[in-house]
Amino acid sequence: MRARVSAIIPAAGFGRRMGRSTPKQFLSLDGIPILIHTLRRFESSPQVHEIGLVVSPGTEERCRIELIEPYGLKKVARIVPGGETRQASVYQGLLKTPSEIDCVVVHDGVRPFLSEALLRRVLEAASETNGAIAAMPLKETPKQVREDGTVLSTPDRARLYLAQTPQVFPRKVLMEAYQKAYADGVVSTDDSALVERLGFPVRIVEGEWDNIKITTAEDLHLAEKILELRRDESRKR
Ligand code: C5P
Repeated sequence: MRARVSAIIPAAGFGRRMGRSTPKQFLSLDGIPILIHTLRRFESSPQVHEIGLVVSPGTEERCRIELIEPYGLKKVARIVPGGETRQASVYQGLLKTPSEIDCVVVHDGVRPFLSEALLRRVLEAASETNGAIAAMPLKETPKQVREDGTVLSTPDRARLYLAQTPQVFPRKVLMEAYQKAYADGVVSTDDSALVERLGFPVRIVEGEWDNIKITTAEDLHLAEKILELRRDESRKR
C-alpha cells in the first residue's frame, strides 16, 4: 500500500526581516500571494494526499475565505493556529495531523519554487530511511569564527550543506523528535535537527538553487527574476 503523505506548511511568521507590514507569505508575486504559489506545488502533486496549513492565531477563518477558497485549493484539509516560533508552528500542525498519515513533508510557506522532481526525490529518499531533506552544497569556503570575529577554523566545504525544505519524515518519528525537543527545552529553526538528536540517520538530497526562501526584500527581487527566467525559457520551447 502507498504511504499516505501530508504536507505541513508553516506560514505563521511575522516577516520582520522583510521590513513590510504584510507578512512576506502574503506579499504578491506575479499577482498571486507567495503562499498560494507554494500551496499550489502540493495541490498539484500526485504524491501528496492532503495539506495542513499553519497560520497566525486568529487568522484561520480569514485565510480560508480570502485565500484557500478563492484559489480553489482542495487539498488544504485544515488551517491550524501557529505559535511564536517556527518550531511551535510546525508542532501545532503536527499535533493536528491525522494518525492515518504515514509520512509528513514539512515545507516553508515562503519557498514558492519547489519542483515536483525535488519533492519526489526527497520523498523517495525518506522512504528508504527515517528522514530526508533537501540541502545545497556550499559554493564558498565557510569560516567558523570566535565571538571577537576572528577565524577559529575553516571546516571542510565538501562535508557541509545548507538545509532547505522540503524535509520528509515518518509522522511518528517527527512526533517523537518534537516531543523530545520540548521535554529537553531544545529550540531549532530546522526540523531535521530535532530528528538528528534522536540518533536517526537523515539523508541529504541535493536541493535546487531556485528553491529559495523569501526572507528579505532582495529575495523578493530574486523571486521576480526567477519567474522572468522561467517565462523566457517556456517561450523558447
Ligand atoms: O522564520 P523563517 O523565515 O525561517 O520562516 C520560515 C517559515 O516558517 C515561513 O513560512 C514562516 O511563515 C514560518 N513561521 C511560522 N511560525 C513562526 C515563524 C515562522 O509558521 N512563528
